[in-house]
Amino acid sequence: MTLDLLVDAHVHSTFSDGRDQPGANVATAAERGLHTIGLVDHVRSDTLWLPDFVSAVRRLRSQSPLDVSCGVEAKMLDTTGWLDVPPSLAGVDWIVAADHQVPLGREPQPPATVRRMIADGEIDPIEVLDNLLEATAAAAERYDNVLIAHIFSVLPKCGLDETMVADTDVTALGHRLARAGARVEISERWRCPSAHVAKLLHAAGVELVASTDSHRAATIGQYDHVSDIAGALASI
Ligand SMILES: [Zn+2]
Ligand SMILES: [Zn+2]
Repeated sequence: MTLDLLVDAHVHSTFSDGRDQPGANVATAAERGLHTIGLVDHVRSDTLWLPDFVSAVRRLRSQSPLDVSCGVEAKMLDTTGWLDVPPSLAGVDWIVAADHQVPLGREPQPPATVRRMIADGEIDPIEVLDNLLEATAAAAERYDNVLIAHIFSVLPKCGLDETMVADTDVTALGHRLARAGARVEISERWRCPSAHVAKLLHAAGVELVASTDSHRAATIGQYDHVSDIAGALASI
C-alpha cells in the first residue's frame, strides 16, 4: 500500500494548544506541497469555541485549493466508547479519539496513576490493555468519522508498551475499526504505531493516514518516522 505523505491529518492551532493560527497552518501546508490538511484542536465536553473554530475552518476551506478538514481531538472516557466532546459537533468532519488517559471503570485515569496502580498490584496490566482496546473500538462504533490518534501512545507512559498487545488483539481491533469506518493515524509526534502494528491494521482493512500532530506550523508535513512506516508498508 502507499501511505500518502502529502497529507497531514492532525495539526493544532491557537484554538487549543497550538502556537500558530489555522490560516498560518494551511499556508505552510500549501508551501510544502501538501494536498490535504486536518485542522484539529483539543476539546472537552464544556468547550465553547467550537462554532468559531468550525467557521474559521470553513472560511479557510473556501479560500484554499487544499482539502481542509475540521477535526476535534478528545480523550476516550470509558469502554463504552464515550469521548470527551461537546454536545453539538455540527460542522465537525473528524473526531480524533485520543488515549490521553486510560479508560478504567467510571473515570479515565492519568497514566501516572495507572503506572502506580500497576506497581502496587492494584491492577493487572492485561486489564489496562483490554480496556484501552475496548475503548478504542467502542469509540469508533459510537461516533461517525473517527480518526484514532497516536494509537497505544499511552502505554509507555504507564510503563507498558505496544509489544504487550497480542497480534490477534490488534487484528480484532482492526476489524472493528474497519467495519466502523474509522481511520488510524501514523503519528510523527508520538512515533507510533510501529510498522508491525501498522501492517496488522492495514491487513485488517483499516485506512491509515499520515499525521504530524504538529503544535506549530514549522513541523507540518515533516515526516521521519512516518516515512519509515510508509517504506515498510510499500512492500505489502
Ligand atoms: Zn493527542
Ligand atoms: Zn493532537
